[in-house]
Amino acid sequence: MSDDAPVRFERRGAVAVITLDRPEVHNAQNSAMLYALDDAFSRFAGDDELKVAVLRGAGRSFSSGHDVGTSGVDYDVTFDRRTLWWDHVGKEAGEAWLARESEVYLGLCRRWREIPKPTIAMVHGACIAGGLMLAWSCDLIMASDDAFFVDPVVRMGVPGVELFAHPWVMGPRRAKEFLFLGDRMSAARAYEIGMINRVVAAGELEAETMVIAERIAEMPRFGLATAKMAVNQAEDAMGFRTGVDAAFSLHQLAHLQAQAETGSPIRAVDVDTTRSAIGGPADGERAVE
Ligand code: ZN
Repeated sequence: MSDDAPVRFERRGAVAVITLDRPEVHNAQNSAMLYALDDAFSRFAGDDELKVAVLRGAGRSFSSGHDVGTSGVDYDVTFDRRTLWWDHVGKEAGEAWLARESEVYLGLCRRWREIPKPTIAMVHGACIAGGLMLAWSCDLIMASDDAFFVDPVVRMGVPGVELFAHPWVMGPRRAKEFLFLGDRMSAARAYEIGMINRVVAAGELEAETMVIAERIAEMPRFGLATAKMAVNQAEDAMGFRTGVDAAFSLHQLAHLQAQAETGSPIRAVDVDTTRSAIGGPADGERAVE
């Protein structure tokens, strides 16, 4: 199923199916994958025949988060940037981290949230940390009953993932519990609190998601675009954008604090903790952020 491309793009009528394709590391996100994902979303956005995108993961999981622990880590590689931030490569400490994370994490997620066409995250298995950022950046989230959601990043000494949507997608008090404990949230619980749209049996997830996507695709393009903008603007009026910016500053401060204390911008992660967060025996070493 997997070739060297970290993201696959498939057309099914008016629906673009975009697949994260590093199943050997539970679709851990390195920069190569995130830029390939941006290319896929750009292709979807620019194609008048495509109305809706479905984002999914190959293999056992949707995504295990940002790749900070496999042979695919590519922090030192310069990519064709999508924001006007300078290249982080060759910079030091906060200057490097702020530039890189503004570009490849927060910047790309904001681009995807603002695509003027509907997007659906189709989540199965693990959706950990940076995986949440991809799911939350989509308009709808469909999940299988075996899916779970977790942000264990507080363990690394930072306040949560770079796209700090937690208070808006789950409410402030549940967000604190989710962050303070770093426990898994089941798909059933995520549905109960309104973080996801539907939970379906694992074997029916793709079919159910395609039914929803094809129904949306029948709606007029401009109606969909303006409806999406209206909801996003309402969310921003509720403080989403400014709240995420404020948390992102604290996130950068926390990276510097970890660097000062440990020599690394993230505190070392217990591999056993990471394995248990992903579930089952590890297929390779990885950490999550
Ligand atoms: Zn970070």
